[in-house]
Amino acid sequence: MTQVAPQPKPGILDIAPYVGGKSSLAGIAEPMKLSSNENMLGAGAKARAAYEAAIGNIHIYPDGRANKLRAAVAEHHGLEPDRLIFGNGSDEVFALLNQTYLTAGDNIVTGQYGFLAYRISALGCEAEVKLAPEPGYKAEVDALLAQVDERTKIVYVSNPSNPTGSWNSGEEIRRLREALPAHILLVIDEAYAEYVTEPDWETAFPLAREATNVVVTRTFSKIHGLGGLRIGFGYAPLAVAEAIDRIRLPFNVSVPGIEAATAALADEAHQKASRDLIQTWRPRLTQAIRGFGFEVLPSAGNFILVLFKDAKRTAAAANDYLNSKGIIVRAVGGYGIHDGLRITVGTEDQNRAVIDALSEFAAS
Ligand SMILES: *Cc1c(COP(=O)(O)O)cnc(C)c1O
Repeated sequence: MTQVAPQPKPGILDIAPYVGGKSSLAGIAEPMKLSSNENMLGAGAKARAAYEAAIGNIHIYPDGRANKLRAAVAEHHGLEPDRLIFGNGSDEVFALLNQTYLTAGDNIVTGQYGFLAYRISALGCEAEVKLAPEPGYKAEVDALLAQVDERTKIVYVSNPSNPTGSWNSGEEIRRLREALPAHILLVIDEAYAEYVTEPDWETAFPLAREATNVVVTRTFSKIHGLGGLRIGFGYAPLAVAEAIDRIRLPFNVSVPGIEAATAALADEAHQKASRDLIQTWRPRLTQAIRGFGFEVLPSAGNFILVLFKDAKRTAAAANDYLNSKGIIVRAVGGYGIHDGLRITVGTEDQNRAVIDALSEFAAS
């Protein structure tokens, strides 16, 4: 008998493995990790205390509906608790949406530089990914709509967007939703919402409240500094939330995660400190790096995308130089941006180190 090894579903092995931000550098004991848009202030004191206090309960399965966190999120954002979907990071919420709505041959539509997490799990459902051009490094409503066809089930927009830092106005998001057929889900990923200062940006929560096809996602990984605990949520039409609950694994959010996230939401001081750090340093970093002759895209997130257009001073060379100074940033070739480096806005010391290193690199 011939031996046939188990075969993954069609397409699985064509998916490029996700490569996370690097976290170590050979020969450097404590590198500055500015590669994953984490909160460089760490988690807040309240979240840490709640996490530590949860140790007495880690032998108990979590509440599968995360009711404590559900009530806290509903209260904090003024949302109906039953319409919330909690996930092991908002990444899991995207995966659950894809698994619930996509069958083989369906497609999702997102921007050319749309977040990879949407795409990976869609491909895992044997769906296709249709990318709308972003010539200005920003999702364009008409370009997204032009990709929509009879097999489109979900349109994903991150607002603000990673890795470009661009954002769409409230008006653009409403126009997209109005033009989209009602059977297509529109998912607005607001992972970086708390860092936005642009006056034309709006959260899509009010739009989602009235619509039957809009989902808004948020995360505890960024402003709350809990990336390691893996908690995110979606605010969806009740019918969507109920459909997802059919396939959601029963205990997908952990006991310490529920406790720490609930405490983090109440820690206004830590949220403010985290927001202030970004809002102070994002423009300073942008200005300084532009001053060295590199292009820095306007960003509404806790990171900036620097483009190295000079053939003598490439993104790869800048990356090596930053690494040599103990600084880890994110190359974004995986998004097709081969001349770009994404740099998380850090603490004052970290930002000064980035500025010094890029100044030296520019002069080299
Ligand atoms: C960081 C990030 C998230 C958050 O993912 P989690 O799984 O909640 O940690 C979501 N969307 C985008 C675009 C991000 O950059």
